[in-house]
Formats: sequence, structure tokens, C-alpha cells
Amino acid sequence: MTISTAVGYATHELEYGFIPGFIVALLLQLLVFNTAKYIRDSIMTVKIKSLQLEEIKSFEQQGIDLNCAHCKESVFVPIRLDQQNSFECSACGKNNAVYVNMTVARETDSINMDAITTRLLVDDEERVKDEIRISGSKQE
Ligand SMILES: [Zn+2]
Repeated sequence: MTISTAVGYATHELEYGFIPGFIVALLLQLLVFNTAKYIRDSIMTVKIKSLQLEEIKSFEQQGIDLNCAHCKESVFVPIRLDQQNSFECSACGKNNAVYVNMTVARETDSINMDAITTRLLVDDEERVKDEIRISGSKQE
């Protein structure tokens, strides 16, 4: 505003009139200000996106594909060892708890086990399976 006023006085002194000079200077100021703001915002957006990409990459190094205990949908879940892990299923929106188990063995021991294993625990389903096993053994 002070620049606009100064330009207005200058154009007034140059006999162009105060108001037209003031308005032109004001519009130019708004244009320059908005252009600078637009450029600054664009740079910020690019920076934020690159940071988000880095975050996703670091998650990929410490996450695993797990099946939702509600709908069995495969969901990529970041795993942290410093806190309780859980995730909300992207398909059904229900919450799942994740339990991390570690197995240690001598390198020389040959264990019939993959380096990374996952297990899906669904109470109702396990109970039904147990019931089927029991009724199956009774028939024998
Ligand atoms: Zn689900």
C-alpha cells in the first residue's frame, strides 16, 4: 500500500493523476505478490511430495503384506518394533492388531521355515476348524 501511495504521488507530480497511478501500482503489487506466493506454494508442494515418497520408501523396507482378519484382503502394513502394531483394512475399514514374533536359531541348524512367515488368527474360524477336526475323529 505504501508503494502504491508513493507511485500515486509520483504520477500525480508527473500530472497523470494520483488515482490511476495508485490503482496501477496496487494491481502490479497484487500480481507480483500472488505470483511469488504461487511459486513459493509450488516449491513447497514439490518438497512435501518428495518427503512423502521418502517416507513411503522407508516404510517399504520395514513393512509386510498381511491379510485382513475380517475380509482376508491383502494389505501392506508398516511394522515398528518400538510400539504395538495395528492397521485399518483399506478394503473393509475394520481394525486389525498385529503381533510380531521372533524366532532365533543357530545358523548351522536347518530349520524348515521361511525367513519371513505370517499367520492369520481368526477366533471363530479356528473354533469351527477345531470342531470339524473333533467330529471328524469321532467318526473314525
Ligand atoms: Zn478387511
